[in-house]
Amino acid sequence: MVHEGLKKVLNGIVAAAQAAGRAPDEVTLIAVSKTFDGPDIVPVIEAGQRVFGENRVQEAKAKWPALRMAWPDVELHLIGPLQSNKAAEAVQLFDAIHTVDRPKIAEAIAKEIHRQSKPLKLFVQVNTGREPQKAGIDPDQADAFLRECREVHGLEISGLMCIPPAEEDPKPHFTLLAEIAKRNGLTQLSMGMSGDYPAAIACGATHVRVGSAIFGTR
Ligand SMILES: *Cc1c(COP(=O)(O)O)cnc(C)c1O
Repeated sequence: MVHEGLKKVLNGIVAAAQAAGRAPDEVTLIAVSKTFDGPDIVPVIEAGQRVFGENRVQEAKAKWPALRMAWPDVELHLIGPLQSNKAAEAVQLFDAIHTVDRPKIAEAIAKEIHRQSKPLKLFVQVNTGREPQKAGIDPDQADAFLRECREVHGLEISGLMCIPPAEEDPKPHFTLLAEIAKRNGLTQLSMGMSGDYPAAIACGATHVRVGSAIFGTR
């Protein structure tokens, strides 16, 4: 079955990767289904998409257990801020968390990964624009925080994630994230949304988080 929004984005990813001299399969599409329910999500699953993103633990808990019963090979990523009192639920529900951004959360996630014996893919969120209202570790503290995640909490971090400031050219932010990843030996970059995923792919994104371009406006 074909889903027009999904098809358009998958074609966009191939075009952007090829333009950057990269293999399209280096880029994982995370279909961001926040605010959408089963009737909108099922056609995207039926069209072959298997990786989905949600930004709230409670919303994901209400929607996804039933869908994953029907499609056990679906992979679910948490892309929104996490409170430490939700860490147990988050580790249970999700296969990846993109928003590790402070010691308290790193500690809570580490404890739950250990307690539930459930390995998760983890990204550290970096506040590349140093926006006071935005989550993410300050770029100047990223190296030390990554070291702390590994050495103090025993966490294996796969990569970095950012959400550039809404009104700015995202490229300097994508480039900064790629630099921080490189000097810390990290290969995965979660960056790029509906409006800027081609630019993110040009800057090395391995995971793009795309919602409205697939599902429509929220
Ligand atoms: C909602 C959201 C997205 C997707 O945004 P679109 O503009 O709809 O593609 C990506 N990343 C995060 C963290 C989000 O909250």
